Amino acid sequence: MPVTDTLCIDGVWRPAATGATREILDPADGTVLATVAEADARDADAAVAAARRAFDTGPWPSTPVPERAALLRRVAGLLVRDREEIALTESRDTGKTVAEGRVDVDDVTAAFRWFATLVESESAGRVVDAGSADVHSVVVHEPVGVCALIAPWNYPLLQASWKVAPALAAGNTFVLKPSELTPLSTVHLLGLLAEAGLPPGVAGLVTGAGDPVGARLAAHPDVDLVSFTGGLVSGTKVAAAAAPTVKKVALELGGKNPNVVFADACATDAGFDATVDQALNAAFAHSGQVCSAGGRLIVEESVRDRFVAEVAARADRIRLGRGTAPEVECGPLVSAAQLARVEAHVADALAEGAVLRAGGGRPAPGPDRPVGGFFHSPTVLDHCRREMRVVREEVFGPVLTVETFRTEDEAVALANDTEYGLAGAVFSADTARARRVAARLRHGTVWINDYHPYLPQAEWGGYGRSGTGRELGPAGLAEYRETKHVYENLRPAPVRWFAG
Ligand code: NAD
Repeated sequence: MPVTDTLCIDGVWRPAATGATREILDPADGTVLATVAEADARDADAAVAAARRAFDTGPWPSTPVPERAALLRRVAGLLVRDREEIALTESRDTGKTVAEGRVDVDDVTAAFRWFATLVESESAGRVVDAGSADVHSVVVHEPVGVCALIAPWNYPLLQASWKVAPALAAGNTFVLKPSELTPLSTVHLLGLLAEAGLPPGVAGLVTGAGDPVGARLAAHPDVDLVSFTGGLVSGTKVAAAAAPTVKKVALELGGKNPNVVFADACATDAGFDATVDQALNAAFAHSGQVCSAGGRLIVEESVRDRFVAEVAARADRIRLGRGTAPEVECGPLVSAAQLARVEAHVADALAEGAVLRAGGGRPAPGPDRPVGGFFHSPTVLDHCRREMRVVREEVFGPVLTVETFRTEDEAVALANDTEYGLAGAVFSADTARARRVAARLRHGTVWINDYHPYLPQAEWGGYGRSGTGRELGPAGLAEYRETKHVYENLRPAPVRWFAG
């Protein structure tokens, strides 16, 4: 297929109706990596029409669940086959390291397998006792219909797959819109779905900008559900665009995630080492471009100086460079705009009184760090206060802010002092305390003595302005299902409600 034929509509790869294209940049050096089709609202309409036809007249919605599950497992097998190629694509496109790309592909594979297993175990209807032998009452699940799936750039394949796998498992058809910055692994995924035997038209792909393409999908009257992962500002626009047609809306938005460290976690050398290591993992994995990044270190005052000094020293030693270089531990940011956003946050924080302990700006170019790459050093900002912009807004870059507490109540109050509520962690050697604090955190995922792991069997999503709905887990399948009650009168007779 010519590289600019990246729209997949009715099973056919094609260019944008206008012929427009977009250059995809390599964030490690700013050069052009690929050129893809730049769709507009007309292409979005064509993709929705194809998905609508496939849903209304095609075989997929009524394909038996074991066959749908088997297809998901074939996709998982193809992902295993193409693991290295996809990991490399994801690394080049997003800037993340190839090792991170491999983890993404493994997680995507696990998600396809999980939804295959789940849909098989949950496909039987639920018989309800109607209190009468003359009535048969059963609750069944059906697909919602045509789904618009809109994904961000930080985990392009992963975030798309958390939507694609359950949407297909439940029998829906869909139009997928990846981020305009990072569409390449999603193009690969659509190829795998076809190779696995998905009927044409079930899976559509439109590569293009949020507005007009995503906006059109969210508003489209023939779309029954929109599932969106991205930023708060775009998410509120999607919810507003979807409202007039009362479609189902699932939103996975940003976070401002606290990492609460009690002094007792650092009482032994091993505990100190592990907790510092996890603070770095929380804040700097994928250069902090993670919705659940632990960018707010909330540390007990008595241990703050020692803890922050060690975090800063190790942050300075993180090997920053092109994600495909073997020794590199952190890649560049995704774009010049993201780099500028992070720089503005750091400048504002310093102006508001934060004290720089590590990083603070662009590193010097080096062998693995070409001129023109969007690199920002891992940055530690001490003496931050809850009212600072850098503490309140999502930075989405390698920036760790430090706040302190003296009591457990203070720690909880700080950790919950955010409009978001996606994820957070508590580190303590006192199990009862760790669990007590975890129970009080108003966040969708809470880690105790760990940071970042998630399981496909467990729901993922946010409290507050981090979103609505859940992905993964049983709830991640329920999003893509309608629930129907079928009440059957086995002995029909007049009810005589009306005399005549
Ligand atoms: P973004 O909101 O800029 O874009 C996300 C997607 O929405 C892209 O495909 C974009 O083209 C599209 N879009 C933009 N405007 C739109 C509109 N008006 N209508 C419809 N679609 C539109 O987000 P991003 O910068 O790509 O991703 C980073 C954000 O995603 C961060 O805030 C991060 O926290 C969040 N995120 C959340 C999760 C989660 O699970 N909660 C996971 C990953 C990323």
